[in-house]
Amino acid sequence: MATRVDGKAIAASVRESVAAAVGELKSEGTLPCLATVLVGDDQASATYVRSKHRACAEAGIDTRDHRLGAGSAQADVDKLVVELNSDPSVHGILVQMPLPAGLDGEKTTSAISPLKDVDGLTPHNAGLLASGRAPLAPCTPLGIMEILRIHGVQLRGSSAVIVNRSRLVGVPLAHLMLAQDATVTLCHSKTRDVAGLCRRADVLVTGVGDREKFTLTGDMVKEGAAVIDVAIVRRRGGLCGDADYDSVASKASLVTPVPGGVGPMTVAMLLRNTVTAASLSRLGR
Ligand code: NAP
Repeated sequence: MATRVDGKAIAASVRESVAAAVGELKSEGTLPCLATVLVGDDQASATYVRSKHRACAEAGIDTRDHRLGAGSAQADVDKLVVELNSDPSVHGILVQMPLPAGLDGEKTTSAISPLKDVDGLTPHNAGLLASGRAPLAPCTPLGIMEILRIHGVQLRGSSAVIVNRSRLVGVPLAHLMLAQDATVTLCHSKTRDVAGLCRRADVLVTGVGDREKFTLTGDMVKEGAAVIDVAIVRRRGGLCGDADYDSVASKASLVTPVPGGVGPMTVAMLLRNTVTAASLSRLGR
């Protein structure tokens, strides 16, 4: 049976190292600060923002909580981002997505200063990531890389298959893995023979999020592969991922459960990115 990744424990150790780095920055006169922007009254988004504030407080990171009404104009949202860009006491800016209908999330993301882009989603940082030089990369792919590192999964020369090509998950993860010399294949809804490609993977990452469209089963997994399940699927019995856990675990050497695998890592890496952004501000870059 595969080793079951304890994402909570790995996230806790990342948070500890973040708290130590925050302590050092404070002693040097910099209090790392994350500003969140929540537009509208979506309850799930409000919950995500609250949990990010709580995690920041636990790590000693200061926060600002900016809220705009659901009827806000694009210009109001972008103006707030521009103000936060020029506020030297704010090191990271997170605009909670999705924005309410009628607002252009990509335009708002593009307005964030690349040096405060703790989600790593601005076109500037996406471009730098493609050339292997991004100071701030998206949190979920960073969390996956940390899980693989902690578990000693060898990427160099390995075949990595990612079933997801989103800008949030698959594409940045492919760049991070390429930078560590994996041979990366990205699969998506138009890919032929996804199962056959999965079977060739030493490292298999799946993030579809719809079990009717795609379910990863043990017969699609190479013996001894490391399997990372990013998806969050809400079902009557609770949350699950893309993987049929037991059948995948009977073939793989390592599997992330859902919940408790990748999820906790995403917030931990947001904290780490905020500390990185605060350090960058000290370098005046
Ligand atoms: P997304 O943009 O909808 O991406 C889904 C991907 O799955 C797309 O690339 C899509 O291909 C592909 N796909 C759909 N049907 C497929 C099929 N039959 N075979 C192969 N590929 C198929 O969503 P996302 O934002 O990347 O998120 C993906 C999942 O991860 C969601 O469940 C989300 O909740 C979860 N997630 C979790 C975390 C975390 O912290 N744990 C963070 C982010 C996301 P096309 O591009 O062709 O449409």
